[in-house]
Amino acid sequence: MNTILIKNISLKNRIVDVLIEGNVFKQIEPEIKDVNADKIIDGTNRAIIQPFYNMHTHSSMTLLRGYGDDMRLFQWLSEYIWPEEAKLTAEDIYNGTRLAIVEMIRSGTVFFLDMYWHHQEIIRAAQEMKVRASVGVTFIEERGKKEIEDNIKFINNFKSPSNRITINVAPHAIYTVGKDLYQELYLISKVRGLKLNTHLAETVNEVNDCKKANNNLTPTEYLESIGVLDENTIAAHCVHLTEHDAEILSSKGVTLVHNPCANMKLASGAFNVPLINKYDCRVCLGTDGTSSNNNLSMLEEMKFAALLAKVSYHDTSLLSANQVFAWATKNGAETMGLNAGKIKEGMLADCLIVNLNNDRLIPNNNLISNWVYSADSRCIETVICDGNILMENYIIPNEEEILEKAKRKIS
Ligand SMILES: [Zn+2]
Repeated sequence: MNTILIKNISLKNRIVDVLIEGNVFKQIEPEIKDVNADKIIDGTNRAIIQPFYNMHTHSSMTLLRGYGDDMRLFQWLSEYIWPEEAKLTAEDIYNGTRLAIVEMIRSGTVFFLDMYWHHQEIIRAAQEMKVRASVGVTFIEERGKKEIEDNIKFINNFKSPSNRITINVAPHAIYTVGKDLYQELYLISKVRGLKLNTHLAETVNEVNDCKKANNNLTPTEYLESIGVLDENTIAAHCVHLTEHDAEILSSKGVTLVHNPCANMKLASGAFNVPLINKYDCRVCLGTDGTSSNNNLSMLEEMKFAALLAKVSYHDTSLLSANQVFAWATKNGAETMGLNAGKIKEGMLADCLIVNLNNDRLIPNNNLISNWVYSADSRCIETVICDGNILMENYIIPNEEEILEKAKRKIS
């Protein structure tokens, strides 16, 4: 079994040695001797920290970065994004996903929960580049019956190429998927033991349209009324919630994914942190796609989440660095049922090696504070996922070729 020994590294302000055997943290001790490791990494002046689990993105939207900025969600989607997405080929999606994965690795993310088209290509890219992914098989009714049937067939016959890759069932939103299909997809997700991944309560318009069409029910009340909310549901955005909505989401065990940058850029609104704290909802963090962000940095997402909460509710104590760090890391791993998200013996070997000599991390009074409020990707030197080194000393294999192939321009 492949072994990596990381020597003299800071873990929560203690200097330790970390032994990775296969895909798990085998031993973490002040000093590990008598091990003939395949690889030794010097951790002097470095810290080991858990990586990010990006719980909502559309990976290949990297290809639409910088296209259709500065407009409202529905106009942006209907006039710019959807027409352009229709032109993307399978090869484009593969290249766009590889670009997304390079960006994710460089900014410390080892897992992404995706929702996009050409899921096979996303799986191929994630498998090749050795990250973890839950790839959404995405449903929008307007795209026609044939695609829906093909997608369902794909879900029913899916065999994962590795322990790192799974799929999820992704009805896009209540305004693109009707009641019958939603319920059918929920049942399929139950039978297959898969997550149901959807957008929810992103904008005021969505809430108003839903109330008009469904007897004054909010989007959350509507999904509850059709019986598709439970602990396997992952709902992105959840910006516009009532007390009753928060109560439903908490009691059903739904995971909420906060995407602060996209919510601010599309002027959707501010995630209601006091409300979700009050009802103790499970929350993770996501970047959303690069067309509404416009990058995949979970470091930025943590900082924006904390700042947005504070300024929105005039409360500096809201969303501490420790709380938002948990949302960005272990909460995602736990939601996905991964024994990961902490640097601990027996857990899956996902970690970042961070350079404590980087200007953004000096002085090291409080690493988590520095990590949330100050750090950028330059601080991340090495990335390990499932015991595999994805980036070592800032080098990602084939990066140049991957970036070159993703330089697709919108004509
Ligand atoms: Zn989204």
